[in-house]
Amino acid sequence: MTIYRATVLDTPDSPLRGGRLRAEQDGGIAVVDGAVVDRGPFTRVRASRPDDDVVDLTGGVLLPGLVDTHVHFPQVRVIGGLGMPLLDWLSECALPEEARMASPDYARDVAGEFVDGLLRAGTTTALVFGAHFPAAVDSVFERAATAGLRIAAGLVVSDRLLRPELLTAAEQAYGEAVALAARWHGKDRLRYAVTPRFSLSTSEAMLEACGAVLRDVDGALFTSHINENGAEIDTVRGLFPEHAHYTDTYHRYGLLTPRSVLAHNVHPDDAELDLLAQTGTAVAHCPSSNSALGSGLFPLRRHVERDVRVALGTDVGAGTSFSLLREGLQAYFVQSLLGADGLALTPAHLLYLATRAGAEALDLGDQVGDLSVGKQFDAVWVRPDDDSTLDVVLRHANDADDALAKVFALGGPADVRGVWVGGDRLR
Ligand SMILES: [Zn+2]
Repeated sequence: MTIYRATVLDTPDSPLRGGRLRAEQDGGIAVVDGAVVDRGPFTRVRASRPDDDVVDLTGGVLLPGLVDTHVHFPQVRVIGGLGMPLLDWLSECALPEEARMASPDYARDVAGEFVDGLLRAGTTTALVFGAHFPAAVDSVFERAATAGLRIAAGLVVSDRLLRPELLTAAEQAYGEAVALAARWHGKDRLRYAVTPRFSLSTSEAMLEACGAVLRDVDGALFTSHINENGAEIDTVRGLFPEHAHYTDTYHRYGLLTPRSVLAHNVHPDDAELDLLAQTGTAVAHCPSSNSALGSGLFPLRRHVERDVRVALGTDVGAGTSFSLLREGLQAYFVQSLLGADGLALTPAHLLYLATRAGAEALDLGDQVGDLSVGKQFDAVWVRPDDDSTLDVVLRHANDADDALAKVFALGGPADVRGVWVGGDRLR
């Protein structure tokens, strides 16, 4: 039994729906068997548990563990390939690296770098875009299990329009996916995610095979890409002339459910937003990737107004870091640039999008995403070095919302001093 003493900030109720930042200036969180059993002012929590160990995390802030809803494990080493739009970046930068994952040794090394990158950034839960090769997917599950992270991941499948070594056939894809799920789904903190790369690179037969895996693996997630870039959208429209729109290319095969997450959706039409809302599908907003590839400015207001769930993703390696703090700041910038069409984001919005919204998108809302009683103790301690600029501005913050704004403006992996998942300290 342990009491963590810290300035605790979280967002149990969505600020997009009237909720506010919950702040405990000198807070105590009591944890038993990895779960929060009490929280409140430190003096009160301490008085009711005088014999518990106390872990002193004063200075900086303690946040719920960050949740990344879209991040590519094979793309760690290609972060920073700037200067290209989506389809050029894929063929020149990302897909050659994806092809190197055919080597299990290479994939194992990158999987280690990937899991380490998540932890250093304070990410405790992630929906991970896997690799096109089963052994590579095994290695990211192995590394995540060893570290103790919560991840969902799966075999990335495609059967057209990519370089040939990344292609497979529907029947083979089904068999390999089900075998991977049998090895990893439900083990430790791991789950399987059905993952066609995008409908541009997947035939109807492959999407049907994906639907079969989703039906046959109880509790599996689904993830893919959508509406990222004009050339991509035009190509998909040409490939699926019988489908109403891009969203329909997934919906028609039974792939959109409350455990589905589609990345980007920068250019949706209203009918697509309504279909995403009806099916409970969440959107992973990846603002640094959208900015780096010039994909566009995400219409967050339209998503919220039409009741589409939205969370944040770093989209490494088109995205430029593993840090959801940086991603939150970029989301704020994008909404500012949209002017009257944007949604003015407060610090509480940014924390919600980086934590609670992600937990709900990944169907883990009852377990993680905030530090309420009953939740798992998944937490990140942001404690900048003494006299660093973040330390200076935090010491001069007016209140908890102001302090949180400072954390998003200046914080990054260098400021992550502690990371816990289910009460286990991972870093
Ligand atoms: Zn992506």
